[in-house]
Amino acid sequence: MDCIFCKINNGEIPSEKVYEDNDVFIIRDIDPKADKHYLMIPKRHYKLISEMTEEDGAALMRGLKKIPGLADQLGLKNGYRLVINQGDDAGQSVFHLHVHILGGQALDFPDLRKK
Ligand code: AMP
Repeated sequence: MDCIFCKINNGEIPSEKVYEDNDVFIIRDIDPKADKHYLMIPKRHYKLISEMTEEDGAALMRGLKKIPGLADQLGLKNGYRLVINQGDDAGQSVFHLHVHILGGQALDFPDLRKK
């Protein structure tokens, strides 16, 4: 499958996994948008929340619940933001669902409306 995150998961593209279990893995984003920027990526390939099965949802939730226990080692002890971009308006660029984990600094929460 021509999916960059599947290729990272199966080792075709080298990348340091900072965390991995049966459900998900976490890598550093190659183009960070905050001092700390990771991606939590489910191992099973699907593009969108609309394609998630019940088990995909449960697997992702199990992954998300690992984040508090990893926060210290990931440099996120003061908090973090989770973002899932879906579709064109959100600028989704990799069509394998993933959760951005942003932190390591105080994060603006800008008004995104065009004025
Ligand atoms: P999105 O725009 O929400 O689909 O996010 C895709 C993210 O994947 C972007 O923040 C990219 O910087 C990141 N990305 C793309 N290729 C890689 C890679 N090989 N290793 C780590 N992050 C990547």
